[in-house]
Amino acid sequence: MRDVVIIGSGPAGLTAAVYAARANLSPLLIEGWQSGGQLTTTTEVENYPGFARGIMGPDLMKEMRAQAERFGTEFLTGDVSSVDVTKRPFTVTVDGEKTLHTKTLIIATGASAIPIGLKNESRLTGHGVSTCATCDGFFFRGKELIVVGGGDSAMEEATFLTKFATKVSIVHRRDKLRASKIMQDRAVKNEKIAFVWNSVVEDILGNDVVTGVRVKNLVTGKVTEVPCAGVFVAIGHRPNTSLFSGQLNLDAKGYIRTTEGTATNVPGVFAAGDVQDSVYRQAVTAAGSGCMAAIDAERFLEALGA
Ligand code: NAP
Repeated sequence: MRDVVIIGSGPAGLTAAVYAARANLSPLLIEGWQSGGQLTTTTEVENYPGFARGIMGPDLMKEMRAQAERFGTEFLTGDVSSVDVTKRPFTVTVDGEKTLHTKTLIIATGASAIPIGLKNESRLTGHGVSTCATCDGFFFRGKELIVVGGGDSAMEEATFLTKFATKVSIVHRRDKLRASKIMQDRAVKNEKIAFVWNSVVEDILGNDVVTGVRVKNLVTGKVTEVPCAGVFVAIGHRPNTSLFSGQLNLDAKGYIRTTEGTATNVPGVFAAGDVQDSVYRQAVTAAGSGCMAAIDAERFLEALGA
């Protein structure tokens, strides 16, 4: 029987582990086969406080993991195949075979950016393909960029990127934007933003780094090569909550609903990071809510008299 089990090894999960371990709760953290979360797929992180000269995403995650380990966090590598929070103690099954029981559960399974699904998109991720303008925009000073999508994220990313880029072309599959009026207006008024309507990115070009995209017009069928240094994919995020549907309250977009800090609708189950945050989605906000979840779990256990 565990006091605290944490699912997820991004900034939220690892920060929860640091705090829970330092509170002598001997946490067990289940890290997926691809440990470290979304930051392991980025290059340099320049906006995480404490690193004046920046740090590579994978290195930051290695440091966070080492810090959690230093205070006694136990790690289990594997994918959680099922969770039962309908009765106490909670049950977590890993890779369909290992079953764990725990008094509290911290969910930090994150969210995944939805990819277009192109072969070169995954190959060039971190080398010109990105899903986070706040993280990577700075590297494209003086360059031309492509943003894919027609929602608020695409408008927000494109507008932000004009701080650095000379030109940002938004490629959208229809001739009408899904984005809210205010976000549309901001993008349309921006002289550095151009729209490529009724079009999809068919391929991303470049050997080691992105050099352009192949764009297909869905109305005329015409295919054009557009040179660019970066492609920002903004066609939505999917929270990793399929394990919990039917057991925890999710919002309309599938994110775990939290109230009073990190509490979910099941007492003793807490959620931190991108899995419960569709708004900020930053490493530092995820880490902050991981800290909150550990403190919430500690207080819950205290109240139980555990
Ligand atoms: P979204 O609203 O779902 O928009 C996704 C966009 O990507 C749509 O325009 C969609 O085209 C396009 N798309 C989807 N799949 C595609 C594909 N396979 N190929 C090409 N294009 C594809 O997602 P979002 O923009 O990330 O926004 C998510 C939520 O967060 C929304 O509720 C939004 O309001 C909110 N948000 C708010 C703010 C803000 O207020 N500051 C900022 C960001 C996000 P179609 O239009 O043709 O479906």
